[in-house]
Amino acid sequence: MLTSLEQRQPDLMDRFARTIVQRRLGHAYLFEGSRGTGKKDMAKWIAATIFCERPDAGRPCMDCRSCRRIAVGDLPDLTEIEPDGQSIKVDQVRELKAEFSKSAVEGSKKVYIIDDAEKMTVNAANSLLTFLEEPGEGTYLFLLTTVKENILPTIRSRCQIIHFQPLRRQAMIELLLSENIKIADAELLSAVTNDLAEAKELEQDESFQALRNTTWRWFQYLIAQDPMAFLYVQMNIMEHVKEKSRALFCLDLLLFHYRDFLYLNFGNEKAVIQKQLVPEYQKLIGKSIDVMAITQQIENILQGKQALGSNVQVQGILESIAIKNTWK
Ligand SMILES: [Zn+2]
Repeated sequence: MLTSLEQRQPDLMDRFARTIVQRRLGHAYLFEGSRGTGKKDMAKWIAATIFCERPDAGRPCMDCRSCRRIAVGDLPDLTEIEPDGQSIKVDQVRELKAEFSKSAVEGSKKVYIIDDAEKMTVNAANSLLTFLEEPGEGTYLFLLTTVKENILPTIRSRCQIIHFQPLRRQAMIELLLSENIKIADAELLSAVTNDLAEAKELEQDESFQALRNTTWRWFQYLIAQDPMAFLYVQMNIMEHVKEKSRALFCLDLLLFHYRDFLYLNFGNEKAVIQKQLVPEYQKLIGKSIDVMAITQQIENILQGKQALGSNVQVQGILESIAIKNTWK
């Protein structure tokens, strides 16, 4: 966890190390940032410093018994709470609060990490408020979320908010290359996720690679205004997007193609994500390109992504993207 955290958030690590040395570590933090930005690793790293037997300059040694137990997720004083199904329920927070009061009595240190904190039910969040108003001496709480606006204002206002910047793309590509991932895959994956573990998983995932090839083919039909683009949805794409998350993926991949295509059309090859496809894109650019129509198509895809969040059928959404894809 540490190496990749150092690559992802070196500045935040320095900042927290200083805070710890100055004994100014707060009791409640809200970490906000997209997936893969290292929020949970950071919380664990700070926890490691709190429990470490030989901390140095506000940093854990990563070698003592406590540090090693944290690394393998086996330190009882560090508790992680995740949504139980769709939400974090009041019972989960109640247990946590019971622990809070116990640790206050024992004078021991406890660290709690609540992942996807926006999924706390209102009751669960309210139940947490009492802790936030009077945190015990040795208790530390880290709430993690992708969008801080989804956390109740009463909770938010009692936490110190730390924003996690996503890894710069080039840094992510280098990280992936150092993991022996092929350049073509690294270019795409770095645009899809900031999470190294997820990227490696996707690279190995045949269904992802199949979806990627299928979407590329679909893009070629769409850009050529081939009527096949419509039929292709039912005949080929649907089998790859049985889950909604996959359909979203498909539209994201499609957006990358359109974006890259536009950049290339404007001569900005540097901005192109999938550089290995440049020769292929160039073949397509040879035909006449209607920039306005492509921009409109990008808009249609974004609308399609939004519609996926509702109860509209996936096939209908994808087909309507193919239907709207006509220009004079
Ligand atoms: Zn240690």
